[in-house]
Amino acid sequence: MAPEAHGQAVTAPPATTATSSRVTSPKEQFGFAIGDDYQLATYEQLTAYWRRLDEQSDRMSVVDIGKTAEGRSQWMAIITSPENHRKLERLKTIARRLALAEDVTTEAEARALAAEGTAVVWIDGGLHANETLGAQQLIETVYQLVSSTDQEVTRILDNVVVLAVHANPDGHDLVANWYLRERDPLERSLDDLPRLYQKYAGHDNNRDSYMAALAETANMNRVLYREWFPQIMYNHHQTGPIGTVMFAPPFRDPFNYVYDPLIPTSLDLVGAAMHTRFVAEGKPGVTMRRGANYSTWWNGGLRTTVYFHNMIGLLTETIGNPTPIEIPFRPERQLPSNDLPFPIEPQTWHMRQSIEYSLTANRAVLDLAARYREQFLFNIWRMGRNAIDRGGRDSWTMYPRRLQKLQAAQGGAETPRGPRGLAGNAPRALFDTVLRDPALRDPRGYVLSADQPDFPTAIVFVNALIRAGVTVHRATAPFAVQGRTYPAGSLVVKTAQAFRPHVLDMFEPQDHPDDFQYPGGPPIPPYDSAGWTLAFQMGVQADRVLEAFDGPFTRVADELAIPAGRVSGAPTARAYVFAHQTNQAFRAINRLLKAGDRVEWLPDGRFRVTAAAATRARLTEIATATGVSFEAETGPAATAGQVLRPMRLALWDRYGGSMPSGWLRLVLEQFEFPYEVVYPPQLDAGALSARFDVLILPDGAIPESGGGGFGSRAPRSANIPEEFRARIGAYSSATTLPQLRTFLEGGGTVLTIGGSTSLAQHLGLPVGNKLADAAGAPLPTDQYYVPGSILRVKVDTAHPLAHGLRADTDVYFDNSPVFTLPSDAQARGLTAIAWFDGPTPLRSGWAWGQARLDGGVAIAEARVGSGRLVLFGPEITFRAQPHGTFKFLFNGIMRGAAR
Ligand SMILES: [Zn+2]
Repeated sequence: MAPEAHGQAVTAPPATTATSSRVTSPKEQFGFAIGDDYQLATYEQLTAYWRRLDEQSDRMSVVDIGKTAEGRSQWMAIITSPENHRKLERLKTIARRLALAEDVTTEAEARALAAEGTAVVWIDGGLHANETLGAQQLIETVYQLVSSTDQEVTRILDNVVVLAVHANPDGHDLVANWYLRERDPLERSLDDLPRLYQKYAGHDNNRDSYMAALAETANMNRVLYREWFPQIMYNHHQTGPIGTVMFAPPFRDPFNYVYDPLIPTSLDLVGAAMHTRFVAEGKPGVTMRRGANYSTWWNGGLRTTVYFHNMIGLLTETIGNPTPIEIPFRPERQLPSNDLPFPIEPQTWHMRQSIEYSLTANRAVLDLAARYREQFLFNIWRMGRNAIDRGGRDSWTMYPRRLQKLQAAQGGAETPRGPRGLAGNAPRALFDTVLRDPALRDPRGYVLSADQPDFPTAIVFVNALIRAGVTVHRATAPFAVQGRTYPAGSLVVKTAQAFRPHVLDMFEPQDHPDDFQYPGGPPIPPYDSAGWTLAFQMGVQADRVLEAFDGPFTRVADELAIPAGRVSGAPTARAYVFAHQTNQAFRAINRLLKAGDRVEWLPDGRFRVTAAAATRARLTEIATATGVSFEAETGPAATAGQVLRPMRLALWDRYGGSMPSGWLRLVLEQFEFPYEVVYPPQLDAGALSARFDVLILPDGAIPESGGGGFGSRAPRSANIPEEFRARIGAYSSATTLPQLRTFLEGGGTVLTIGGSTSLAQHLGLPVGNKLADAAGAPLPTDQYYVPGSILRVKVDTAHPLAHGLRADTDVYFDNSPVFTLPSDAQARGLTAIAWFDGPTPLRSGWAWGQARLDGGVAIAEARVGSGRLVLFGPEITFRAQPHGTFKFLFNGIMRGAAR
């Protein structure tokens, strides 16, 4: 079928209704079979092949779902029977109506639609590009679905619309071409990739799904949550747990408390179909549950965000490599168990075998979807209705902390080690008074007032919700709720909607259970973050509404533009001032500096731009784009401020690419900061102050202890293209440290984040570790453990580094460094900017032993010669999400460039 651009209907009937008798096989197309040793098809080849299949087969049409970060088309193949292709728009409509469950209000209507519709199943590949199996199996899967005439495929095509989605085109070409650059197959290796396989995020491209800051995520979110609403989505990964071939669902605990209980039971259903098929086909070595560390706690991965949208998200992790590998002998994987019913013998393993396993897994899912088509369609409606119902009445979500409250109400201690620590009968009355306390009801909705200090950031937040399919309303007139009046333009997110679990998850704190290997033992690390509440990370002010409410609200159809700012005062004004509270103020400054305007940072935190010839016109443009309002300065001029100079900003990176550095590139580009990327050899070469005013060292740039060898190991291959050779190098105390010291002493600014704050110790500054015992050893994890979570810090907002921030700010914290400063810190040039103030800083996630943080310093500045070293312990730019702490970075940059 003819390719269709994104957004256009894909309804054109095929020229012929007869099933294609003959389509080109991968071997005919590429000259090798998919999975042959030492071979990989590139994305460019995949594109040409899919276009050909599209022309040859009336079962398939190829759709461009949007551009990638590097400008490629991201292809999705829609595969179903020719009959279904002719009514694709109708099938899409049915899938959407059942998933959103808004206008389908009766069970009878839902059952009728389910009977008419087809299941929609998403199968992807290639997200993590160095996991080459994913994209290769996708090519073979598509080929088999368009060419097979067996009964099972026919049933699948009749009952299922398959969305075969390539998840990372850029990375696929990078990795495949890297592997194939060696002519001798025996020399081919996936090692030593020179840069990230997603332009900004690399492996973290699977950590972006609720934010959708990356182009590919935004493309896929649109297909998932706004166009196709698949009931099942299957996300392919590599590699399998050692001693096995594959991990497949179901998953281990912890559960997540906000999504529908049909999610875990459906994961069991689909998982059982997969495992049963493997055993029946004589394919051993597939493990599940505690066979690996994957859980369903976290929102934010491609596979996990779907749970919060009532979709069944599958993950497999499968071994495989175009270069044959060994399955080692692991005695602990030989005894069968419920986690691994059919162990595998150690052996040499070829890529083709991994392809066969992937096909088995895909077939199991598609066959189940075909046979239980109506049930999957009906159940997604059921979940959507449940969500709408719960959002429209008083309802409660059960969290571990509430059981702790209960225990306290019974006179017990408030710190059980795990919710399972509770046993025995409790008085029924406590259920009603504690667990059904009206104050603990789930919100009916949230209001984001348009008069909050950084409303443009609230818009960015709401746009992330919209990209994830959430329904948002905007007030067309002022209104009052719960005794508070809100201006027109305020935003409203109600929870009576199908994707309520996602709404709750973006606004409410995550309450991760205390999860230990055994009572008193070490913690079980969460698979990813323990807490991530996006509203907190972004510093968005949202009022929780516990009662039914309404107002002059209109539904927002698509992503919102930032409301334009104003330029006020006489056109002849000599200067204009603007506020520091919005992140967008920095975009405005960067545009003004680029245009050659004179911008000052005033002592009270505001900015002032001197009016030159074209300034006023420029301000009007900038106010429209950024929402920043400029006010003409009247009366006597305010105290002179520091003059901002055009940025000479360097950002550290390393050979292979650092993800924290990559995300920083994205943040800097979003806010239009000019920057240059520097690698260890450029740092070692010195003369840094001649080129830069500010150097950013993200997590991973500086070793936490010791001297050299950090940053990147030397590539093993001698065959590194010229353009990447100057990137090879590592931090060392002998060569890098003296250059950093010279840069600082000469007046430079170094901004360190996370682990790289250890530079303070390397420089011999009197900065101590708050999280150490009396002997200086790090606290053991059974006493203190804070995996990725959101904590609250007190901020000295009078300090220029914290201008525009709030006195209480939420920071993203991941076992991050926390400092102590000596009593004579001020005299020694050390200043605390943010610190933990109290024994319970946890806002969202898990913070075991959090009282140990009390009084610890989170952010500090140190004078070094005439320069400044800034220590950001928390991850203030983590995955480009915590917009609420970006200003720390921006202030640090501007301060380094100010005179
Ligand atoms: Zn992966």
